[in-house]
Amino acid sequence: MLRNGLYIIATPIGNIQDISARALEILRLSEVIACEDTRVAKKLFSLLGLPLSKKFIKYEDHSEEKQAQNLIDLINSGAAVALVSDAGSPLISDPGYKLVRKCRKQNVYVTAVPGACAVVTALQLSGLPTNRFMFAGFIPNKDKARSDLFNELKNIDTTLIFYETAPRLLKTLEQAAQIFGTREIAVARELTKMYEEVVVGSFAEVTAHFIDNEPRGEFVLMIAPPTAHEFKIADVREILQKRLTETSLKTAVREICTQYGLNKNEVYALALELKNE
Ligand code: SAM
Repeated sequence: MLRNGLYIIATPIGNIQDISARALEILRLSEVIACEDTRVAKKLFSLLGLPLSKKFIKYEDHSEEKQAQNLIDLINSGAAVALVSDAGSPLISDPGYKLVRKCRKQNVYVTAVPGACAVVTALQLSGLPTNRFMFAGFIPNKDKARSDLFNELKNIDTTLIFYETAPRLLKTLEQAAQIFGTREIAVARELTKMYEEVVVGSFAEVTAHFIDNEPRGEFVLMIAPPTAHEFKIADVREILQKRLTETSLKTAVREICTQYGLNKNEVYALALELKNE
């Protein structure tokens, strides 16, 4: 028997064998299964050979408060509630955080059973720096929102990770290339499945690959952190702007290049851009 509480259970993202022994045990013993889609959850139970004689309840973060409170009431009346997503780790671009927050506020026992998660699996396989990374969820669909997001993130010194869908991949790569320019990227596809693939290279190389091989399946896009050089250019922008109000363009460019060891043509181009703004 399980103690009453909320159990956040990671399920496979493609390979059914990636379910953990602890996850199986808790799913078998839970009285209630809170899930995104009851049909998907029942299918998973069948594949895993788990009993279907449980209460399957649909849960979405954006649905009514009532739904979360209903689950908490079930916990308070003695039930073990397992929260599962359609695939992978709940709460990671999936519902659950509002429910966990509510449980915390009401002192309800919450625990997690870790397992498959596309962000982590993709990062592990990419060869991009793992010491600092930022997961930014799904990339917006609209051009303006997409470029606003990329501009917001471009000076952050971490590997950036996004979820993306097959039909939008090429458009996203095209727009990201304009903002992230020369950085190395990695695209992971169909992780843990038969056609698992990780393509690493420049924007041009990865884009060429997916022009030749039509994007299919599920995708994670990763972008390497900015190089020291990129940082310097971003850093000098403000200083250069100030110097341009005090001295000639030529002098300001020469000073900055000497002080920061930057390429004259690049700083000159930046100075012209600032002058024209
Ligand atoms: N909670 C899940 C997790 O732990 O990764 C993610 C759910 S989110 C709704 C679904 C997105 O995750 C997909 O559109 C894709 O970007 C990514 N994803 C999920 N499974 C994947 C896989 N096997 N390979 C690549 N990306 C995957």
